[in-house]
This record gives sequence, structure tokens and C-alpha cells, in this order.
Amino acid sequence: MATWQVVPAGQGAGLRLRRGQELRIIDPEGGQSGDLVAFSRDGRQRLSNGRTFDYGAKIYVSTGDVLWSDRSNPMLTIVSDQVGRHDFLYSACSLEMYRIQYGMTEYHANCTDNLCSALRELGIEPEPLPTPLNVFMNVDVAEDGRLVFAPPKSRAGDSIVLRAEMDLAIALASCPASTCNGGAPPKPLAFEIEAV
Ligand SMILES: [Zn+2]
Repeated sequence: MATWQVVPAGQGAGLRLRRGQELRIIDPEGGQSGDLVAFSRDGRQRLSNGRTFDYGAKIYVSTGDVLWSDRSNPMLTIVSDQVGRHDFLYSACSLEMYRIQYGMTEYHANCTDNLCSALRELGIEPEPLPTPLNVFMNVDVAEDGRLVFAPPKSRAGDSIVLRAEMDLAIALASCPASTCNGGAPPKPLAFEIEAV
């Protein structure tokens, strides 16, 4: 039985998966969204929301859906999902986003910096950072195309499990933006790598 590794609130972590290994991402307290980006082991293929939209023909992903690389190879398959709402619609929050959308002038923790530093620690040059899988994020698309945030549907202990379809370097961040966390301060996420 693997033990959980914690991604502290508003921070990030890096990990590697071999093909066939499964990554369980847990929301220990509930209501927390996160960002996940994946690169092939050599850094040459990146997770692609565009290709995943193309081949899956939908904007939400859940059990059975494949997450594709920018070179049209399967990177990850969602093998189980207790939440059922994750999307690929938003870039990782960044210093510029907090400045432009919220007028912040001082440094604000952000997923872009957290994901990039976690990937650099794995020896991957992450920029330009791909659009992350927004894990547990709950966004509705209104009839006129507007995006509307709702609190994540994840309850304490809920998880999603992804199987690696190639050897991967992955970064996972607990998002510090209160807009995607039901207005609450950020909480930790956790993960475990399951031997199969
Ligand atoms: Zn974020």
C-alpha cells in the first residue's frame, strides 16, 4: 500500500511515472482544485488540451478518457474517477493573471511558477507550459459560451486515477486561486503512485 505524498496548499510537486504505473490524485479535505501537466520522459512531448479535445470530442474528461500529447500519442488514461468533473479549459494561473484579472501588484503564489519549478527539478524545460488538466475544477459553459466557476465537487478523500501510457515527467499543483476553490483559501492535495 503506497502512502500519500502531500502537495502543500498553493504549492507544487514533481514526479515520474513509468508506462503502466497509476497515479492517484486525492483531495484530502475536499473542494480543492489542482493543475496537472505531463511531459514525455525526454521532454519532447507535452500534454495537449487541443489534441485531447480533438480525439475525445468533449471538454470534460472522466473515466475511460485519454489525455493526448501534442504529437498525438496517448499520455494518460483516466481509469477511475470519484468526482467526474475536470476540464482542460484554463491555463495555469500565473503572476500576470493575478495582475491583469485581480489587480495584484505583489507576488502571488501561482500554478505556473509551481509547475515550472517542479518540472525543472525533474530536468524538464517546461516553457511554454502546456494548458494543464484542471483536476477537480468545476466550470460550466453557459449557453452563450461564458465560463462560470462553481465550487469543486470533490468531497474529502475523493480521488482520480490516471494510468501512464508512456514514461512521463509530471507536475501537480494545488491551485492558490480562490475563484476555482469555492472562494476558500487553498488546501493541500495528495498523490500516490500505485504499482500495477
Ligand atoms: Zn492555479
